[in-house]
Amino acid sequence: MLSLALIACASKQLKLEDECVYSPQKTQFAFWSNVAEQMEVRIYEQSDDVQCTKVVPLTKGENDFWTATVKGDLVGKYYTVRSFQNGEWAPEAPGIFAKAVSINGQRAAIIDMNATNPEGWENDVRPAMPDMTDIVVYETHMRDYTMSPNSGIEHKGKFLGMVEKPAINHLKELGITHLQILPMFDYGSIDETTLEKNRYNWGYDPVNYNAPEGGYSSDPADPACRIREAKMMIQAMHANGIRVIMDVVYNHTYDVMGCALGRVVPQYFYRLNEDGTYANGSGCGNETASDHEMMRQFMVESVCYWAREYHVDGFRFDLMGIHDQETMNAIRAALDEIDPTILTYGEGWAAMSPAYPYEDLAMKQWTYKMPRVGAFSDDIRNALIGSPFDHERGFASGNGACKQALMNGLVGCIGFEDPNGQLGAEPLCWSGEPMQHVSYITCHDNYCLRDRIAVSAAEESEATQLRMNKLAQTAVLVSQGMSFIYGGEELFRTKLGIDNSYQSPDSINIIPWENQIAYADLYEYYCQLIAIRRAHKGFRLGCAEAVKEHVEFIPTDNEHLIIYRIKNLEGIDSAKSLLVLLNGGPEEATVAMPAAEGNYVVLAYDGEANAAGLDFASHEQETVKPYSATIIAEYPQPEE
Ligand code: CA
Repeated sequence: MLSLALIACASKQLKLEDECVYSPQKTQFAFWSNVAEQMEVRIYEQSDDVQCTKVVPLTKGENDFWTATVKGDLVGKYYTVRSFQNGEWAPEAPGIFAKAVSINGQRAAIIDMNATNPEGWENDVRPAMPDMTDIVVYETHMRDYTMSPNSGIEHKGKFLGMVEKPAINHLKELGITHLQILPMFDYGSIDETTLEKNRYNWGYDPVNYNAPEGGYSSDPADPACRIREAKMMIQAMHANGIRVIMDVVYNHTYDVMGCALGRVVPQYFYRLNEDGTYANGSGCGNETASDHEMMRQFMVESVCYWAREYHVDGFRFDLMGIHDQETMNAIRAALDEIDPTILTYGEGWAAMSPAYPYEDLAMKQWTYKMPRVGAFSDDIRNALIGSPFDHERGFASGNGACKQALMNGLVGCIGFEDPNGQLGAEPLCWSGEPMQHVSYITCHDNYCLRDRIAVSAAEESEATQLRMNKLAQTAVLVSQGMSFIYGGEELFRTKLGIDNSYQSPDSINIIPWENQIAYADLYEYYCQLIAIRRAHKGFRLGCAEAVKEHVEFIPTDNEHLIIYRIKNLEGIDSAKSLLVLLNGGPEEATVAMPAAEGNYVVLAYDGEANAAGLDFASHEQETVKPYSATIIAEYPQPEE
């Protein structure tokens, strides 16, 4: 029996993440290829040595994994792998699961991962998340957030900048729960050897998926440094009650032959057109093939690795519509085994047509088939501020034609059949549950909110544009979907009319911290909106059945007015009911309150908001000023 147990142990199924398992006594290598005729690992003393010091042939074993064990202590050395097929050697590359890399990610590094843990890492835990509907996501790029001379942050453009007090205090003051950071895995568009040139890129050009980007570390030439500092950033957020979401870009690579996925197993990880060329659903020259077994496994293992090793709390999938539904459901199941509160959502679309059957892809339309995987709602976005494909106005900037689409967005596109018939015969229906509907108006893509309103409502004064801005964000934060805010909107950021700033200079992309004073009124409004949402469960009922039970839209002939009511909230909210009046038109509107005897507290009115209540007497009729929201909470009558 003992010998059988030993055999079982020896044939433990290898995973892609077992690529390089280091100990001071030996290093074990394992790489997958189903087409190689030979494979070898090449060991280098230095990251930039021309000649390797050792070539280690790999032996093919079970499930197409090629393995070797090298005795001795290899710490501090570097490796690449290369494979031989069809009569030639493919170019060498770090393995597809390189966890530590040299400058610019050209070679994998052999390090002791335990030595990358910052002080106190063993005590790092995800902040408690007793109610998932509390989520308010704040998206930012670390350079946008830290580079301004007015940021008060010393380590500009670095993981360590996010650890500093001014960086964290702002997020705490806003009251957000999750920080979503633009790509922080190793990407290719910034030369890590010339960081002093201060070039900017969003980073949607993956090179090594399982190592952090060197440009954000204080020493990209030290493979452990970027790992330690990425962990320090997450640790600091966790210590302050904030969860961290990673933006992951598995749908394409920077290029094909310059990265490990393309080199180590040629073509396998990508979808091909019938003529043998690379399919291009990403619009970036290639698209990966999540439907291929080992690409799916790669994605599953990769997110789990970040969740376990870095304690990442959520994943935002870039162009998720390129991936297949089965993969997204497999990712969800694997993360559930680690922690079911880890978030998953993404862009339920592709840039161009993927080379895979549409009905099997993780497109927004099929969100309901992927439980607890969310999708960005272009419906509520376009309804509020207009589509990025034109310069039209949306509901918040005066376009009454968007009213019905906005009502669908307010209830999270769950197929809501309004008892008063306000959503028409075919309400939008793509999310199974409201929290799968990511409610937002802006993100890093397209115009920021200030610029969007400025181009679509150019003839309006800045004062009116500010009203539209507040109204649009109010609708997002009272929506039953998951709230998402683009970082810097609270500071009235502008990108000077640039709607694709992926490689614009810092001067375009930085958040204007000085506006916390110059536009203090707007900043305070955003803070209070978030506080109002978090204080009232009625705005985030959490499940489709509850939305159907408690929400109604009160009929009105005014195309610029939505009367959104959440009622019968006893036992759910401190308020008995919540009434939201959204006026997207230039005229003041008046609404009769549903129950005249109520104890009403006005939470928002005429561009002001206060979660504790504005200084208003109870009203029998309520007004809503042009381009603004009125929010009224009805409380039980105090005992006589
Ligand atoms: Ca890089």
